[in-house]
Amino acid sequence: MDAAWLRKRLELEKLMGVDALMLGPTQQPADAGVALELGAVQELVAVCGGCRLHQTRTHTVFARGDPRAALMFVGEAPGHEEDVQGYPFVGPAGKLLDRMIAAMGLERDEVYVANILKCRPPGNRDPRSDEIEACFPFLQRQIELVAPRIICTLGRPASNTLLHTSASMGSLRGRWHSFDGIPLMPTYHPAYLLRSPGQKRKTWEDLKMIALALQK
Ligand code: URA
Repeated sequence: MDAAWLRKRLELEKLMGVDALMLGPTQQPADAGVALELGAVQELVAVCGGCRLHQTRTHTVFARGDPRAALMFVGEAPGHEEDVQGYPFVGPAGKLLDRMIAAMGLERDEVYVANILKCRPPGNRDPRSDEIEACFPFLQRQIELVAPRIICTLGRPASNTLLHTSASMGSLRGRWHSFDGIPLMPTYHPAYLLRSPGQKRKTWEDLKMIALALQK
């Protein structure tokens, strides 16, 4: 399945799917329609051979959480534990992410969590640009369907990919950006925070800005 084919397929699903299921006076897509559409995208991910990573994965890792969440976290790629279980952020970094979510006054399942890559890079190496390019249409469609009020990118690969930049986390975090008109706050990745706990204070500042914006 190459990237061009995938883009066409996702466009077709968009035309035939949830956008045709607009219901009610608010013209919001029905929750069931969104869940259905996300399920269809997840099925495409499960059989994807769009890059080399399909050869070494145990499971694809699509997402966890509420498909109509107001807040969406975007991480980098599955690690060992995620590859084994098939869910994002279930290893040590995920435990810290859960504590960050709780500190914001939110339930674990109240947010939506996905990654830039749906398959684990061997040895947890950094994602390569061709892998990101092949996988990005999936995330793009997840964002369209979930339609979060706010996106929080975790770490540099996710932040750089969504913001089309190569800037450092130090220069990106702590202020609002935008992805397709959705307010986006970049912050440090929980795996980095486990190695550099001194940066937790800055991350907490970013999360407080998000929590405050969600109350408006
Ligand atoms: N790190 C990520 O970026 N994503 C996961 O799902 C797990 C660890």
